[in-house]
Amino acid sequence: MKTCQVCGSLDTQDPCAICTDASRDGALICVVEEVGALWAMERASAFRGRYHVLGGLLSALDGVGPDALRISPLVARATESEVSEVIMALPATVDGQTTAHYLAERLSNAGVSVTMLARGVPVGGELDWLDDGTITQAVRARRPA
Ligand SMILES: [Zn+2]
Repeated sequence: MKTCQVCGSLDTQDPCAICTDASRDGALICVVEEVGALWAMERASAFRGRYHVLGGLLSALDGVGPDALRISPLVARATESEVSEVIMALPATVDGQTTAHYLAERLSNAGVSVTMLARGVPVGGELDWLDDGTITQAVRARRPA
């Protein structure tokens, strides 16, 4: 396995099969924490753009700063290429949200729109099994029925 120098994913080739797939939408970059999240997105087949693997999350507690993650390469990709939207698919944890906030700040001059995945009730999810945070986010992210 090789690490893709463009997106940070793992593949047998570098650049990886996703980065070299001309049928994918080069205007969209989905930012994920680790390769596992990328594979989860691919399994769902809900996204046809490209990815950027950060290699972790910012964490004051664990002493992980911006230089420990692939943030500068992301800003460079967003600034220099045909990218028009960066979608943050980061965990709904304190570190995930801190990282998303920081990335939005860093990307504010890159000429791209920065979006986040909506959070909400999982498909097949029964309300009484959900934690309060998920229910709160689902109410906030509600849309016309
Ligand atoms: Zn790649």
